[in-house]
Amino acid sequence: MRLYHCTWRHCSRPVFSLTLCRGHFRAFRVQCAWPECQTTSYCRQVCAKHYRKKEFPPVQLCLQCAQPSYIDNKCFYHYTQRQCIQCNRRVFSKQLCQTHYMQAYRKSKRKQNQPVSVSTTVTENGTPVEESTPSS
Ligand SMILES: [Zn+2]
Ligand SMILES: [Zn+2]
Ligand SMILES: [Zn+2]
Ligand SMILES: [Zn+2]
Repeated sequence: MRLYHCTWRHCSRPVFSLTLCRGHFRAFRVQCAWPECQTTSYCRQVCAKHYRKKEFPPVQLCLQCAQPSYIDNKCFYHYTQRQCIQCNRRVFSKQLCQTHYMQAYRKSKRKQNQPVSVSTTVTENGTPVEESTPSS
């Protein structure tokens, strides 16, 4: 069975990737923003020690926009746009690589296996709503 909330000590936020929530996944992947410091990041891109001392280097920004960097010099948006949240492959759709997207697709198909199947949602003006539009 897959865990649905973060496995970090007492955290109960929803899982983002690798059994960790969005914040703890970052803490696990990213080091303190001070170049000489190897400690994992705690808050505001620095480790707990530097955070307590209130020593913040210039905020690292995303290489593709002006948002603060989340992981690997990419903001959360650009990071999740490019890399599957289940593995490190390129995103195919909905923040998942082709393999994981197909897995999720098949799972959701199985779940929807009910006598009445409505595939497209239709708005009041009769326009079908696309479910898979990856808008910002
Ligand atoms: Zn967490
Ligand atoms: Zn540090
Ligand atoms: Zn960005
Ligand atoms: Zn994947």
